[in-house]
Amino acid sequence: MKLLTMKIQRIIFIASLFVVTHHAIAQTQTIAHRGFWKTDASAENSLTSLVKADSIGCYGSEFDVWLAEDNELVVNHDSSYQGKSMEKTPSAELVTLKLKNGENLPTLEQYLKKGKTLKTRLILELKAHSTPERETEAVRKIIAMVKSMELTTKIEYISFSLHAIKEFIRLAPAGTPIFYLEGNLSPQQLKEIGATGADYHLNIFRKNPNWIAECHELGLKVNVWTVNKSEDFEWLISNKADYITTNEPVLLQKTIKSK
Ligand code: MG
Repeated sequence: MKLLTMKIQRIIFIASLFVVTHHAIAQTQTIAHRGFWKTDASAENSLTSLVKADSIGCYGSEFDVWLAEDNELVVNHDSSYQGKSMEKTPSAELVTLKLKNGENLPTLEQYLKKGKTLKTRLILELKAHSTPERETEAVRKIIAMVKSMELTTKIEYISFSLHAIKEFIRLAPAGTPIFYLEGNLSPQQLKEIGATGADYHLNIFRKNPNWIAECHELGLKVNVWTVNKSEDFEWLISNKADYITTNEPVLLQKTIKSK
């Protein structure tokens, strides 16, 4: 009887180890797209959206970065806002613009300063700029700022620009996560340029469903944007996507928890 109890305990112990390990490997993580903005007093790419993403325990909070006319870095999605071009307007003017929640358009420095007080990871998208030289300048400035603010282990870089991605890979400290967004490189090609992984649109993975497993076999991570529906969450979770970038972080977290 005692032997049987010991055997059962041993089986339970091994099973629980398996569950813990399996969970740690398979768990899909939530990234709030442009922060958590579909909630009270928030707005896309606002400091509030970053705080709100952190408050619900998101793995990461994504935001978009531009190099302004005076080579200062600001946070905004589109290439122009309220008629002002991000690249052709001095930052001092851009930061006077109001976001939908009444906050001013933030500088990258303000954004990182806020991020430093939070637990959520900072998923920085460098937008594709008018010239490769401006992208290189932006990459240099970003990496220097992140280093001086001691945020190197908390930041991840993403971009649609292959040039920007290659510059992040060349200039960021080894081990910094760097993901390409455009979707036109195979897992093998991503591996060859030294990217951390694919951060592709859902349709790219729907068209190439084997790419998730291929990335994993190559040691690459998989992030998917911008996924907002339960059925797509389910499909990606069952296919073991590492991260999902979403405008619906609460719904995604609920779906992950239900697994
Ligand atoms: Mg973005």
